[in-house]
Amino acid sequence: MRCKEVSKIQVFYAGDNHYEMREGSRTHTLMLDKTTCDCKVWDKSSIPCVYSIAATQVDRSEIENYVHWYYSKEAWARAYAGIIYPISDSRFC
Ligand SMILES: [Zn+2]
Repeated sequence: MRCKEVSKIQVFYAGDNHYEMREGSRTHTLMLDKTTCDCKVWDKSSIPCVYSIAATQVDRSEIENYVHWYYSKEAWARAYAGIIYPISDSRFC
């Protein structure tokens, strides 16, 4: 995946949390409140894409608010809160 620069993206607010993003000849649409963008990176990974980051700069909102809870420190702590029992190598059973 190529890295993209947020500064090269033009952001146009259409209203009601809808944005149009222009990057060269490409155009993308996204909705911040629905955490969706037609580039599909955000929709598939639940990690904000470069276009959503550009939109939050215009919206003056925190990008962390749009990352899925699954990636939070709390989710990580819950995942590893229990005991993870060691597994013996099958050769020694
Ligand atoms: Zn996107």
